[in-house]
Amino acid sequence: MSSFRSIEESQTLWINQRTKDLMASGKEIHKFGFGQSPFMPPKHVMDALSANVHRKDYGHVQGEQALRENVSIFHQELNGIEADPENIFVAPGSKILIYSILLAFEEADVLIAAPSWVSYAPQAKLARHNCIKIKTTFEEKWRVTPINLQAALNQKKTKHSIMILNFPGNPDGLSYTQGELEELATIFRKYNVLVISDEIYGLLDFENTHISLSTIYPERTITTTGLSKWCGAGGWRMGIALMYDNLETEFKKALIGIASESYSCAALPVQKAAEIAYSNVAIIKEYLSKQIEILVEVSSYIHSELSTSGIKVYRPKGGFYMFLDFSEFKVHFKSLGINSSKSLCETLLNEKGVAILPGSAFAMESSELVARLAFVDFLEPEENEEFDIEKHGQSIISGTQKLCSWLPNY
Ligand code: PLP
Repeated sequence: MSSFRSIEESQTLWINQRTKDLMASGKEIHKFGFGQSPFMPPKHVMDALSANVHRKDYGHVQGEQALRENVSIFHQELNGIEADPENIFVAPGSKILIYSILLAFEEADVLIAAPSWVSYAPQAKLARHNCIKIKTTFEEKWRVTPINLQAALNQKKTKHSIMILNFPGNPDGLSYTQGELEELATIFRKYNVLVISDEIYGLLDFENTHISLSTIYPERTITTTGLSKWCGAGGWRMGIALMYDNLETEFKKALIGIASESYSCAALPVQKAAEIAYSNVAIIKEYLSKQIEILVEVSSYIHSELSTSGIKVYRPKGGFYMFLDFSEFKVHFKSLGINSSKSLCETLLNEKGVAILPGSAFAMESSELVARLAFVDFLEPEENEEFDIEKHGQSIISGTQKLCSWLPNY
């Protein structure tokens, strides 16, 4: 038996490395694999970061009080989340917050959708929990349905059930309606499920209609978010968790213990910048409206081209991703020896220089011919310049055309 935990390198990083290697060998690559925002953070937020580099000390383990107060007011105004600053946690990224919440439980069943974000299942495994995947389908818009949720809860083995729900979604770019969330909440309530509602793309909802689960199921929803996506600052490592009222004392104690024995605190200059970012909803909405306009234009272009060539795909409702279903080409791919999403993505990358991520990285069965496309390989226009897809989105256009030309009957 091996002495080490069996955990593979994230497939997101694998494709990134392969992309870099191919680029180093002089090949043109369309980077539709890695989901990193192409937008710069707002200038006043970057200025706040520069102005605070002298803050070199350790900070409060739960996050600075002023930042937690701003986050509380900001999310109350933005989407009605009622979180007391005492129940807000700030950390270097929401990823470590989700992991810390899982680690706080001795044992639990962790429910995730398939497809869902790459790190949920590995985190549940590292925390030694029982991970239950809830299968979703293209026909059901990759949504967790009440029937499937109920069936998953019937399989639970432990006292605690934790569902990680993510919308707008990575990898599907889709969201839940108020009615759908209410139906799920009825079941969450029945089974007393703790929900980690990963709403990191919530501010990037294209129609500005994002509904936070905590407004429907306030009693046991933890909302996770942060600066990585809407603010374009993934490398700053700033994540936030807004916990529910009456957070159990033992649970809070466990979270503070985990935080203080692992990451200690988020970097203070970044917390100061976040304090400014979260100080004014109107300014942020204005900043985001330009981004959203561009994301809608780029994703509409790709969606229309791909659907015309026979890929099954929904127009995204928010965020940076679309989930492509190549099942219509199953026979064609089989004749080429392509029987898994990984071999599909490898062949596409090698033959056409288009990097997308295999569905198997997102908790899907490897034989399902599905993959995630991130539509962020474009240039941010200069200030006062209009976005022009022909000029700023050259890689989007040629990468999309290459992907379509790879399919039969093009
Ligand atoms: N949740 C989802 C769905 C994501 O896509 C990501 C990043 O890719 C994260 C969480 C983690 O974000 P961070 O740790 O940068 O806050």
